[in-house]
Amino acid sequence: MRIRKKSWEDEELLTNKKLVHEPEKFKGNWKEYFGNDNPIYAEIGCGKGKFIVQNAIENPNINFIGIERQTTIMAIAARKTNDDMNNISLIRGDAETLADVFEPEELSRIYLNFSDPWPKKRWAKRRLTHRHFLDLYKKLLGGDKEIFLKTDNTVFFESSLNEFCETGWRLSNISLDLHNSGIEGNIMTEYEERFSSLGQPIYRLEARWLHNN
Ligand code: SAH
Repeated sequence: MRIRKKSWEDEELLTNKKLVHEPEKFKGNWKEYFGNDNPIYAEIGCGKGKFIVQNAIENPNINFIGIERQTTIMAIAARKTNDDMNNISLIRGDAETLADVFEPEELSRIYLNFSDPWPKKRWAKRRLTHRHFLDLYKKLLGGDKEIFLKTDNTVFFESSLNEFCETGWRLSNISLDLHNSGIEGNIMTEYEERFSSLGQPIYRLEARWLHNN
């Protein structure tokens, strides 16, 4: 997503209290950061933040961390938070560096919402569901190691299904049309609003690494 730098973004990034500037310092200590033992859910590529902020408001007993590599977009997400929200934090950074930020098993769930599809075959390694990312997530996730994915992109969804299945993940609650699926409690993302208003069906799945695999 190309986006023009905002006049207010530097100020927002400097002063917003939910942005964590040196997230490596909290590696292994995110429970202390939040001040409780609640599970931590992360969205990788959180974009403009609607999903993660709304989730945090609706689920006060879960801690949420939004991760986004694009600075201006992160500033837009940061603007949606306020100082009173105790269960959300934002990290400007790349999925590639997650192992510097989280200890093994520190996260309980990862959301991948409308990840960049990188549709050409030669770009497959960049997809956030390429097996090298799935292996990284597997380390960082504890419990059932849940990954929840939504996308409108057929190539990305097919390749994700293959990557999950070929590397031993168990899939459930798959839908090829989330909005007509009867699955409840869906929180729409910015991309989801845009694509579904164009009439595109939304694909989704849940992946778990079960202990007896
Ligand atoms: N989840 C949001 C945004 C989807 S667009 C929504 O559904 O509305 C995908 C976002 O992922 C972009 O903002 C992009 O900058 C970010 N992104 C892509 N690759 C990333 C990576 N490797 N690490 C962190 N963020 C990434």
